[in-house]
Amino acid sequence: ASGSDENDVVVIGGGPGGYVAAIKAAQLGLKTTCIEKRGALGGTCLNVGCIPSKALLHSSHMYHEAKTSFAKHGVKFDNLDIDVAAMMGQKDKAVSTLTKGIEGLFKKNKVTYVKGHGKFLSPSEVSVDTIDGANTVVKGKNIIIATGSDVKGLPGITIDEKRIVSSTGALALTEVPKKLVVIGAGYIGLEMGSVWGRLGSEVTVVEFAPDIVPSMDGEIRKQFQRSLEKQKMKFMLKTKVVAVDTSTDIVKLTLEPSAGGDQSVIEADVVLVSAGRTPFTSGLGLENIGVETDKIGRIPVDSKFSTSVKGVFAIGDVIPGPMLAHKAEEDGIACVEFIAGKEGHVDYDKVPGVCYTHPEVASVGKTEEQVKQLGIEYRVGKFPMLGNSRAKSIDDAEGLVKVITEKETDKVVGVHIMCSNAGELIHEAALALTYGASSEDIARTCHAHPTLSEAVKEAAMAAYDKAIHI
Ligand code: FAD
Repeated sequence: ASGSDENDVVVIGGGPGGYVAAIKAAQLGLKTTCIEKRGALGGTCLNVGCIPSKALLHSSHMYHEAKTSFAKHGVKFDNLDIDVAAMMGQKDKAVSTLTKGIEGLFKKNKVTYVKGHGKFLSPSEVSVDTIDGANTVVKGKNIIIATGSDVKGLPGITIDEKRIVSSTGALALTEVPKKLVVIGAGYIGLEMGSVWGRLGSEVTVVEFAPDIVPSMDGEIRKQFQRSLEKQKMKFMLKTKVVAVDTSTDIVKLTLEPSAGGDQSVIEADVVLVSAGRTPFTSGLGLENIGVETDKIGRIPVDSKFSTSVKGVFAIGDVIPGPMLAHKAEEDGIACVEFIAGKEGHVDYDKVPGVCYTHPEVASVGKTEEQVKQLGIEYRVGKFPMLGNSRAKSIDDAEGLVKVITEKETDKVVGVHIMCSNAGELIHEAALALTYGASSEDIARTCHAHPTLSEAVKEAAMAAYDKAIHI
């Protein structure tokens, strides 16, 4: 019934891009419907991405801390053990509470929620096969495509989500694999490798490129890799997987140097394929409205998120830009603001990136490699967590803060942090970048003591003058 009268805005996809766009549109007074086929809101992020991975990262960190650090703090116990099913149960509860929370927000904001698969009939009509087996046509003056992304497979490797898993399977294993091979050293591979490594798996990460997470500042990346190696994660860089044999109890992977050369074989109980994600537009009927995708399947949009077809917009993982939940949300808000005739804005140079391992690695703005390449004269201020009293007091002082400024103006152009809670500390830097702050602005801002955030202040002091505590 909801679908038959015309909406101002129809959103296809209920992930962080789509559901945020729908709520914002309703808040701006637009009649809004959101179509989601999964049967639950929150998209990849909430159901099989950000949220369940952070739940497992936390649980596995607790176990690992109990095993390796509690005694040092004088906390003693016997018979430490892992109950994987209980761990998964806590993760599932977090996910279901949050997805239901979004349904509640839809009700509160009067967004109509249609559960089903949407397909364009025309630029203003979407046919929906609902999950209860019916069909309805939803009409809208403006339609936003927010269909997100899907796991990118590798040629010749069949994902069965049991022994050869994607991130989705890696979030739902029923026991701790003895040997886990991770293909791809990006954020997702390192996070999931950390989860199972902490719980006892021998983890080997195979990466085609010469470095782990190529987008990271080189100096931070080196320290990060060393830290993961200390946690017993093994890396085989410049290496490709050429064949996977699942015919016996143990999976055998044939490897070869990326540049070619002698082959070798490694064994695994479980293989995680985390070689990236690919935009998802399958079954959407883009051909019915004449929207084309680029070479890697993304939908090109202009600066107002409009596709080549008037009244049809696209946001989030399905368009170019970092494939991150918070970027999708920003896209969603700006897109709806444009539709409502207001101004919207997303600054893609200031989207923070966080790897939620331990320590966490977070960054915003440019890396040292990027400023060099741009020929910008720059200064660097660094501060090691070893000089931070809070980090020392909790015996968790691995890592550093690195602030990069433009030499002439002292304007902050990039901040890179490796330490526990780096993902929280980074927002002070994001704000600094957004407001064009100098390192002196950060350094002269009074920071509470004793906090990890003082390390950001000290690195900023070091960028324009000298730090105190080192
Ligand atoms: P999605 O979240 O993919 O949502 C799209 C939705 O559209 C899906 O629910 C899908 O079912 C629905 N849909 C698709 N086609 C149709 C159709 N035709 N009709 C109806 N519905 C349809 N990002 C972070 O920022 N931080 C993290 O910590 C983080 N961790 C991650 C961990 C993992 C393991 C993974 C896989 C991803 C992670 N990400 C993280 C990335 C993040 O999940 C995505 O960037 C984000 O979900 C993109 O949002 P979106 O709204 O564009 O698309």
